[in-house]
Amino acid sequence: MKSKHIGLNTVCTHVGEVPDQQFKGAISPIYLSSSYEFMDVDVKRYPRYFNTPNQEYLAKKIAALEHTETAMIFGSGMAAISHMFLAFLKSGDHIVVQNTLYGGTTNFIREEFPKLNIEFTFTNGYKVEDFEAAIQPNTKLIHIETPSNPLLTITDIKAIATLAQQKSIVTSIDNTFASPVNQNPADFGIDLIMHSATKYFGGHSDICAGAVAGSKNHMDKIWNVSKNYGGSLSDFTVWMLERSMKTMGLRVKAQTKNAMKLAKWLNKQSFVKQVYYPGLKTHPEHQLATEQMKGFGAMLSFELTDSIDSNQFMKQLQLIKASMSLAGIESTMLSPAQTSHSLLTAEQREAVGITDGLIRFSVGIEDVKDLKTDILQAIQNL
Ligand SMILES: *Cc1c(COP(=O)(O)O)cnc(C)c1O
Repeated sequence: MKSKHIGLNTVCTHVGEVPDQQFKGAISPIYLSSSYEFMDVDVKRYPRYFNTPNQEYLAKKIAALEHTETAMIFGSGMAAISHMFLAFLKSGDHIVVQNTLYGGTTNFIREEFPKLNIEFTFTNGYKVEDFEAAIQPNTKLIHIETPSNPLLTITDIKAIATLAQQKSIVTSIDNTFASPVNQNPADFGIDLIMHSATKYFGGHSDICAGAVAGSKNHMDKIWNVSKNYGGSLSDFTVWMLERSMKTMGLRVKAQTKNAMKLAKWLNKQSFVKQVYYPGLKTHPEHQLATEQMKGFGAMLSFELTDSIDSNQFMKQLQLIKASMSLAGIESTMLSPAQTSHSLLTAEQREAVGITDGLIRFSVGIEDVKDLKTDILQAIQNL
């Protein structure tokens, strides 16, 4: 069966299983060997070549999920993103990046690119005109992130891909927040789809990994660079990741359903000023999200009314954990002003809409009624 014709949960469960020739076990055997029989001068199996049996097969699952020819697995989301950038940018080149990027990506660009003489422009906004205005004659890559962190803005994937194709610029997207369960950017013409597999792919807050998916032609370029930088993932973790990904469809769909219910509920609460969730009709890009997403995802943000101290609120939570990371099966919250965006000044934060009362909510698989009860008791105990 071609993976295009089989359902999401079947892809998650079965595509990319390493066949157990020896014992016919139900799951993929794990091959921890770092040394393999010599095949050819150009074809060697070696962990840093991203082609051990477990690496090679799990990449097939990721490619099938993202509707691309091929994929690669990395040691972290940042390894995936940095190797991808470095494969398409050299000294004198220019990259256009969305203004609201994951903090680690922003740091990588600001701290490493000047050393390499790679030019970059952060867009003024997330509309296609903002990207167009930032393009230069030496622009080689456009990188977007949608839904964005932490305000869940939606960038028009197809419009960006079309703009870039007209100018022969390669496009990449950080698809971590949506996951392939809710969004397939390759279907809209994006060249490279990158994930922090630490998030929804792993899903249990116990794996650090990354992935990039794309055409064979583009991925060959990334492989050539990545084997030199060496950001591969250990086979034990690759095997753990395969195990986690079997339930990704089930998990993310349940989380997405919970997020929709909670966004609607929070929107009606007197202690909430505003809810940011692309699934709400009041979201400015709700229509666009409906066109390019299969589901609206399990990340949302909300702003508490001015009289509430967000820190005190989070301290009162008993079930929901105050946590830096996201996308696990357990619900977590954080205050972007005090964590991910704390290095910005209060004015800079205000300018991008990140107020002190803003809370980012990574919705898990718990029963919605228990999550509501926890939020209500935290408000009552302030
Ligand atoms: C976590 C994250 C990353 C970085 O991934 P790591 O696995 O922590 O290296 C990149 N992009 C987004 C959107 C993330 O949430």
